[in-house]
Amino acid sequence: MPIRYRCRHCKVEMGSLPFDAEKTIHKLHLFEIGEMDEFVEKNAQGETIVHSICEHCEQSLRQFPDYYALKKWLQ
Ligand SMILES: [Zn+2]
Repeated sequence: MPIRYRCRHCKVEMGSLPFDAEKTIHKLHLFEIGEMDEFVEKNAQGETIVHSICEHCEQSLRQFPDYYALKKWLQ
């Protein structure tokens, strides 16, 4: 099953990996995002969804960290 990457802020899909590679996810993201359960889920189709952050949101967070703290933006 593919692994799909989706931005957890704006929900844009950033892409997918065409193979089942949970170990690869761990390698790529474990240290980056910490708590895996909160950011990785499996949907009804058995696909793994990784809730990450896209370039656009990452830049916004760097520029406007208060928005992130308040959780008001893009909602
Ligand atoms: Zn985003």
